[in-house]
Amino acid sequence: MRIVLLGAPGSGKGTQATILTKTLNVPHISTGVLLRQAVQDQTELGQQAEAIMNRGELVPDDLMLALIKERLSQDDAKPGFILDGYPRNLSQAEALDGVLAELNAPVEHALLIHVDVDHIVDRLAKRAELENRSDDTPEVIRKRMQVYEEKTAPVTGYYQQQNKLTQVDGLGDIEEINARISAALGH
Ligand code: AMP
Repeated sequence: MRIVLLGAPGSGKGTQATILTKTLNVPHISTGVLLRQAVQDQTELGQQAEAIMNRGELVPDDLMLALIKERLSQDDAKPGFILDGYPRNLSQAEALDGVLAELNAPVEHALLIHVDVDHIVDRLAKRAELENRSDDTPEVIRKRMQVYEEKTAPVTGYYQQQNKLTQVDGLGDIEEINARISAALGH
């Protein structure tokens, strides 16, 4: 199954993807995880991305496209994937469709995990304590939320037009939300 997970930072995409990757037996591809790894390894991409990520802004589309293209063409993604953190804007959504058209493997489901802003800010503050991420400071959290509203939220409309979008309520405990997602996927 080929799934795109959408939702604000802190909406629980990563947590749900970690469960789904086991139940659906397809890889969880998180561009945030891939980028943090590149930063840690100090690759060329990591060096280009680090300061941008620390400001809460988006890494340029051409760099992201190269990264996602490479990852999606690996063998383990042949049976499907759960994309988390990509696409982040409309041009990435279009670029992704291009890559997947070449692979003859279009997105099947776009799942939007909806959580309202007040809850998000709370969750991100808690995650900052647990994970010690350099982009979870209050100022950068505000910036990431702003980027989400301006650039990423319109991506939901893109998938809605393709009749691929399902919205799931992201409030509740992890198992409850997982059950909603499974129901939405008919799984
Ligand atoms: P995430 O873990 O998905 O919240 O991503 C952390 C940071 O990595 C984001 O705030 C961006 O700076 C960068 N990033 C992740 N995915 C993308 C993407 N698809 N396009 C541009 N930047 C991204």
